[in-house]
Amino acid sequence: MRMTFAAILGAGLLSTSALAQTAADFSADRVKADVTWLADDARQGRDAGKPGYDAAAKYVADRFAELGLTPANNGQWYQQVPFVTVTADPKAPRQLTIGGKVFPHKADVMATLYGSGKVPVETQTVFVGRGVVDQARGLDDYAGVDVKGKTVVMFYGVPKGLPSDVAAALNNRKAKIAEEHGAVGVITVLDSETAKRFPWKEIADHGDEPYMSWATEDGQPYRTAAGVKASGLVRGAAAEALFAGAPQSYAQTLAAIDKGGKVKAFALKPTVKFEATSTAERFTSPNVVAMIPGSDPALKGEAVLLMAHLDHVGVDPKAKGEDKIFNGAMDNAAGVATMLEAARAFTKSNPKPKRTVIFAAVTAEEDGLLGSQYLAKHPLPGAKVTSVVNLDMPVLLYDFTDVVAFGAEHSTMGPVVAKATGDMG
Ligand SMILES: [Zn+2]
Repeated sequence: MRMTFAAILGAGLLSTSALAQTAADFSADRVKADVTWLADDARQGRDAGKPGYDAAAKYVADRFAELGLTPANNGQWYQQVPFVTVTADPKAPRQLTIGGKVFPHKADVMATLYGSGKVPVETQTVFVGRGVVDQARGLDDYAGVDVKGKTVVMFYGVPKGLPSDVAAALNNRKAKIAEEHGAVGVITVLDSETAKRFPWKEIADHGDEPYMSWATEDGQPYRTAAGVKASGLVRGAAAEALFAGAPQSYAQTLAAIDKGGKVKAFALKPTVKFEATSTAERFTSPNVVAMIPGSDPALKGEAVLLMAHLDHVGVDPKAKGEDKIFNGAMDNAAGVATMLEAARAFTKSNPKPKRTVIFAAVTAEEDGLLGSQYLAKHPLPGAKVTSVVNLDMPVLLYDFTDVVAFGAEHSTMGPVVAKATGDMG
């Protein structure tokens, strides 16, 4: 096993003189021992909420204690994350009614599950192009329409030709943008390219899967845009029904969107009613958190967070072959072990780190980055996180040659990382 990754960490976050003292402290054998224990069959693939994960969490907490770190959550090693999984009640209707016509779930619509209980939402509808707003780039798909208390109908994705990071950020914000404009429902229509890329059958095959998130104070699953109470995906006849009587037909609108042209927003004629009923299951699973308080009184309020997800995907009884356990040695026992080894080096470093260093082994990454999202929304007391080094699957199959520091241009970390990697060649 190569220790270059841990060395990079040490180099990036400590002064170079400290590196000279810590490099000798990295031990491939210790990393190997941690990976072996965490990825053992007995951990059952460390699925969040399962006993194998809990055992792994205790292992990490014990290691933090052994290293002499400080518990980072008000004296606790654990930040317990409440989770909720909602599953559709198969006996209750799950459907969209568009202009009086019923479209059952999985036929030409996919009706998203929201909180537990019954979620009936019935509203007017407004078409808003791709549903993006970015004033700096002259994009405003909501110009000229009022969507307050209504359902917005938008095509999947963002306009072509945007830089990929801008496109990704905009895509992630579409529900939030709808909420900011007062919409309570979101219907997404597939453009032709996306429909080809994601065949409907594959989408529908996943249509009965539960929805999981961490639970907010009211016990409902967290959503980035809580004001949006219902959403769905539509195609074909359901999309045509939405555009019935509109200034522009579905076929014309689709053709314009496919070409990448700008399509102005307009009100649609039909109302839409979303229906789904679901039941909730609850469990908790911890993020394991430790810290080394900063040594500089002026800087200890700032924290550098080193993190790695501890969970993996568990056991799949339907997996091919005899072995049903996904051990997750690379993903991400290796990352956690590397973090522990870096933590050990920090405890030995002289001079001590000026800023507080927080270590977090987070849960439910495989369920959608949920443990780290919870940590971001529920910051640990004491120090404000100013930078994050996330260790996910340090690849051990070839030499470690590249470092990309995301957001380096917005931070003083950029030159530090450049110097550290430069020193290592
Ligand atoms: Zn991973």
